[in-house]
Amino acid sequence: MGNQIKLGVIGDPIDHSMSPLIHAQFAEALGLKINYKPFHVVERDLDEFIESFFAEGGYGLNITLPHKLNCVRSANILSSEVELLGAANTLSKNSNNEIIASSTDGLGFIRDCSDKNIEISNKRVLILGAGGASQSIIPAIARMNPTKLMIDNRSPDKTEHLVTKFSSLGLQPFQHDNEPIDLLINATSAALSGSFNWNIQNQLNEETIFYDLSYGKASVKFFSWASQFSKNRFDGTGMLIAQAAFSFQLWFDTFPDISNIKLSNTDD
Ligand code: NDP
Repeated sequence: MGNQIKLGVIGDPIDHSMSPLIHAQFAEALGLKINYKPFHVVERDLDEFIESFFAEGGYGLNITLPHKLNCVRSANILSSEVELLGAANTLSKNSNNEIIASSTDGLGFIRDCSDKNIEISNKRVLILGAGGASQSIIPAIARMNPTKLMIDNRSPDKTEHLVTKFSSLGLQPFQHDNEPIDLLINATSAALSGSFNWNIQNQLNEETIFYDLSYGKASVKFFSWASQFSKNRFDGTGMLIAQAAFSFQLWFDTFPDISNIKLSNTDD
């Protein structure tokens, strides 16, 4: 174990994380010896854990719920995306032992869309949900120049908050009209609490592309709702793998092969 590169992912809970499995496959394909571990870290231990992880030779950390916002205070340098979002999913260390915070969710989403030939430029895009995942992909989508980038959320105050936060990126609150939605992104965790439904039927059709950030079994309810409109349905597995690949690239300067990654369990 001594010569292995020390990496990990921290969250609370952490048992469900696919990251160790994904990174192990990236490293194996490149002949890199890594020791990538999941760590269950609660909020009160967060700052101390990050400090000692890197002080004791840690090379890189992924950050998942609920620490994406609060991990940023442990970093010495923030990427421009983290400045914009106020949240990070990747920490690395530079040669001066400074901790750098980055966010790869947006890149991962865009990469997966590109791999699946999902167009964003000049399209009407609606994001459902205004939590952490929604926020993390908004700037990256905005940079692709959609015709319109809209957001809708169960709690309207969060929609308002995000529209204000990202007003310079052209984010608008969703308003019913008769224009079809080209790309509908589900960034809610609604399917966890029952069946999925959203009152936008008149703007959906067989051309609409439905993309669920959830994956595995968690996508079943969204897919079954979407199936009444369109066959164009994708879950978030590709984004999950691609965001991990961009983290790996931040640590090792190499974008790994993402074409053949096996996830033994995608239940999340
Ligand atoms: P958050 O808890 O931050 O946000 C949850 C969102 O879902 C909120 O907007 C909330 O609305 C909405 N919501 C929850 N329940 C319902 C409901 N019953 N009806 C309508 N809206 C509801 O979660 P995240 O943003 O972190 O994650 C969202 C999803 O994205 C998860 O399924 C997660 O697994 C997935 N994800 C996938 C990634 C990938 O790489 N593929 C990366 C990150 C996340 P309200 O504000 O009203 O509470």
